[in-house]
Amino acid sequence: MQGIPDNIKLLSFAKKGLIFSQTYSVKDFPRINEIVTNTDDKVKASLSFYIENGKIPCIEGSIEIDVALDCQRCLDEVKLNLNPTFKLAFIIHENQAEELDPSFETILNADEEFSTIEFLTDEVLISIPMIPMHSHECQSYKDKSPVIEQEERKNPFAILEQLKNSTKE
Ligand SMILES: [Zn+2]
Repeated sequence: MQGIPDNIKLLSFAKKGLIFSQTYSVKDFPRINEIVTNTDDKVKASLSFYIENGKIPCIEGSIEIDVALDCQRCLDEVKLNLNPTFKLAFIIHENQAEELDPSFETILNADEEFSTIEFLTDEVLISIPMIPMHSHECQSYKDKSPVIEQEERKNPFAILEQLKNSTKE
């Protein structure tokens, strides 16, 4: 199987029924590279192009990528394995969507050519959870600051405050 060209020529690839697959590095995707720490990890992508209903160019594909992000519960690193798959039909008019099998996700698009990296990046970004977290019950960072809490307790002024309050009662 041949590697994915830098630019997708939608109609031309679809008419030829081309199939591609390629292994990238995370750092090949600038917008993903910005938000993850595992920039040297591999990314596998495969794409197949075809025409549906005699005229609608489609891309079916899948991506395999690990993203190392900050867990929003414990703030330590969490590595998520993402495997977005997609079946996209590129339509020019809304009404073309009615003719298509509902398994297609339709995209209104008039661009005949677009960047493969940008296209794959979009598919990865929408598959990243809004709030990335460990699958196990990690400890919330809010409960992880006993040092600060102890400092507060030792604060002599805080104790004075407590004394004042107790004498008022
Ligand atoms: Zn966590």
